[in-house]
Amino acid sequence: MNHFSVTRALFDEVMVPNYAPAAVVPVRGEGSRLWDQEGRDYIDFAGGIAVTGLGHAHPKLVAALVEQAQKLWHVSNVLTNEPALKLARALCELTFAQRVFFANSGAEANEAALKLARKYAADHFGPDKREIIAFTPSFHGRTLFTVAVGGQPKYTQGFEPLPPGITHVPFNDLAALAETISDHTCAVILEPILGESGVVSATPEFLQEARKLCDRHRALLIFDEVQSGNGRTGSLYAYMGYGVTPDILTTAKGLGGGFPISAMLTTSPIANSLNVGSHGTTYGGNPLGCAVAGAALELLSDPGLLAGVRHKHETFMSGLHRINERLGVFRELRGKGLLLGCELIEPWQGRSRDFVKVALEQGLLVLVAGPDVIRLAPSLIIPDELIEEGLNRFERAIARLLSQTVPANEELAHAAR
Ligand SMILES: *Cc1c(COP(=O)(O)O)cnc(C)c1O
Repeated sequence: MNHFSVTRALFDEVMVPNYAPAAVVPVRGEGSRLWDQEGRDYIDFAGGIAVTGLGHAHPKLVAALVEQAQKLWHVSNVLTNEPALKLARALCELTFAQRVFFANSGAEANEAALKLARKYAADHFGPDKREIIAFTPSFHGRTLFTVAVGGQPKYTQGFEPLPPGITHVPFNDLAALAETISDHTCAVILEPILGESGVVSATPEFLQEARKLCDRHRALLIFDEVQSGNGRTGSLYAYMGYGVTPDILTTAKGLGGGFPISAMLTTSPIANSLNVGSHGTTYGGNPLGCAVAGAALELLSDPGLLAGVRHKHETFMSGLHRINERLGVFRELRGKGLLLGCELIEPWQGRSRDFVKVALEQGLLVLVAGPDVIRLAPSLIIPDELIEEGLNRFERAIARLLSQTVPANEELAHAAR
């Protein structure tokens, strides 16, 4: 037997130091609550970074996982399996897609999408159509290709040389896109709503025009809906809310409700460029993941659930505005559905992590979206009582931070007291 205590301190002894997790270690979750090793409870407005869209330990997901676990775990892609085929069929019925590729993470789904776009261009237009256009800021994952496409120096520095053929233009800047796109462009990839990079929504015109520009230059339009998908914005996929259909869509986070699975969706003519042997993954389409995602998708595609997301958006927004009337720390409150961003006023910019820390002390989990924005991505079925209790904790946390700290602007700190 092992004789050591499993605490946060152990992390520093045994884990690669690429994360800085909080001091508490959760051991159990149910719905929108988590409990740590000491039995303290936390209200979850973070959702495991927009993953647990149906809360923790949803009975239907648990049942799907247990049932599948007793039947068949893994067969590899040498064989297919029932849960994968059922999930692919459901995704095709619910979206524009005619073909589906499964992987295990958002980055892998994007890797597949980007490789497919290059391959499709090579198959149909020859070797001069290789350029990928992406936007700043954006985030598409942590493989070498996806950090290069994401284009954030903090994620690429030291990992060079990076894959070439990637150009960046400012997000929502139509003129810059129009100027940059050409017949050498094979794909334009974007997040309809920037997740990690501040919870900024694409303007409808930006997506509509991006669609037209891609059509004109025969470039594929890829929507990275790893974060915005699976009901998060109040539409099953954000593209549906915009009425702009991509050629390839990637999704992950909410798809498995916490079980690792991702998908790349596309049409059959495009899919044909990934012919036998051209791309693959050992675990993609794994029966366990697909069984859980199948159960999740059935719940997430329910119009009642999606209407609930839009309703809860209003509940959150009015609560956050009330907090701001009293404490005045937010410059803007924004987002769609239950992907919400609270941008800090200038004196507090750069300090979003401090808010996460004080919230945790008050028993509330929230996220950052860059240094200036606090991000909320709760369960899509969080009960109204927990929204209220969580917002109370949020207000207490912010009040405490304001009373403890002197921000850059002394006058504002004084006003807050
Ligand atoms: C989280 C995220 C990714 C990366 O997903 P992983 O599962 O961490 O690889 C890619 N794109 C977007 C928009 C994301 O939010």
